[in-house]
Amino acid sequence: MPDRPTRIAIIGAGPAGTTTAALLAKRGASVVIFDDGRRPELVVGESLIPLMVTAFRELGIEDEVKKFGMHKPGVTFTIDDETEFRLSFQAVAGILPTYSYNVPRREFDQLLLDTALRAGARQITTQVRLEGPQAQRSEVRLAREMLEHIPEWDGVEPDLIIDASGRRRLTAKLLGLNAENGPRTDVAHFAHYTGCILPDPDGQVIISRLRQGWSWRIPLSGGRLSMGVVMNKDAAKAFGATPAEQLEAVIESEPRLRAIAQGRQRVTPVATYANYQLISERASGPGWAAVGDAFGFVDPMLSPGLCMAMESARVLAGCIPPRGGLDAGTPARLRRYGRWFARSLRHWQRLVDYFYDGRIFAIYTAGQAMSARHPGKSAEVIERHISSNLAGMASGAYTSRLYSRALLAALALHSARKKSRTPFAIR
Ligand SMILES: Cc1cc2nc3c(=O)[nH]c(=O)nc-3n(C[C@H](O)[C@H](O)[C@H](O)COP(=O)(O)OP(=O)(O)OC[C@H]3O[C@@H](n4cnc5c(N)ncnc54)[C@H](O)[C@@H]3O)c2cc1C
Repeated sequence: MPDRPTRIAIIGAGPAGTTTAALLAKRGASVVIFDDGRRPELVVGESLIPLMVTAFRELGIEDEVKKFGMHKPGVTFTIDDETEFRLSFQAVAGILPTYSYNVPRREFDQLLLDTALRAGARQITTQVRLEGPQAQRSEVRLAREMLEHIPEWDGVEPDLIIDASGRRRLTAKLLGLNAENGPRTDVAHFAHYTGCILPDPDGQVIISRLRQGWSWRIPLSGGRLSMGVVMNKDAAKAFGATPAEQLEAVIESEPRLRAIAQGRQRVTPVATYANYQLISERASGPGWAAVGDAFGFVDPMLSPGLCMAMESARVLAGCIPPRGGLDAGTPARLRRYGRWFARSLRHWQRLVDYFYDGRIFAIYTAGQAMSARHPGKSAEVIERHISSNLAGMASGAYTSRLYSRALLAALALHSARKKSRTPFAIR
């Protein structure tokens, strides 16, 4: 049956799984999304970058995101009492939308799931069990009892299993795949608060360098502020025995956080995340492919996670024929997808490294000093050019662009020697 719908089983109803499902179902594939329904009340990943707005427009959901999302004009990095680096998305005018959104994950994930269901995908709430490795045709397959949920497939296995199980990395673990891990062993605690002084301008995300680690402040609709701290696991223990004690003690011990959060009321439990930076050995194999965090993720300081989840979904969906099953070219397309994904994650990680080791702030302060010494039109033009490249990288459009990466490396070489960047580095 050359025109039968391709059978796709997606494990995980996070943004990576539901975006893949929406795109494939819209093109005529028979898509089933399995999710275990074990989403906690608070899920991390609330600050989005401008490239995602283009994905919302492609899916036709920007107006719905606007209803619960908070307009985000940019990000401010506060390094110490004197040094603040304000990144406005206006600098990406002509490249991308000049804004993004901050979103509560529950509503956001539900919207993406509804979009996939509207496109024709089906949802089944159960914890998926995979079996494998199998000989030749597929390395993994759905456990027999899973197929009973899909009578329309007549007991036949899917053409492709898409692992969108997030950090649980179902297939990678089953197959014992190797992974590159990053050097940091941090822990993040966060919660939502009311009664805080909110960032200016409205919606601006604030990343602050702390004595240990860093913190985020993400303003959400309804006057809520998501506050999180990220620090070395062992350093965190000095602040208390439980995540809630540690989060509250860090806020109290940091003058900048204490000042804005004096009247705070915590309105959610404290959520904790560990484990940063991971890229799996491969993103596909016979009968399966991985998307979003299930393949890899980078440090969250610049918020690339959901963008990479949705971008990888878009690229992966483009590799799969929606009708007639997989064709002879599919494995090669999936391998190319994996190489693209690993490369993109590495580019993000290199950009994040500039923030961690202080180079970006050394470049910024050197640029400020230069403009003060030689004010005028040419200094303004150079500053605009650098800002638009840097903002373009942090917005997702230029992260992998050779010219922008080379510009940043050249600036770092000239203005960010080890001595000048050390005072800005994040411990
Ligand atoms: C501290 C921290 C801060 C972050 N901040 C940001 C941020 O501000 N902005 C941003 O864009 N990103 C951020 N991220 C990253 C972001 O949260 C992730 O990249 C994103 O959630 C990945 O989406 P996903 O769809 O790949 O996986 P997930 O959202 O994790 O979805 C996976 C789904 O699979 C389901 N599942 C797993 N196993 C099974 C199974 N066996 N059977 C059925 N279902 C299963 C899970 O229940 C879940 O619903 C942050 C991450 C961390 C750790």
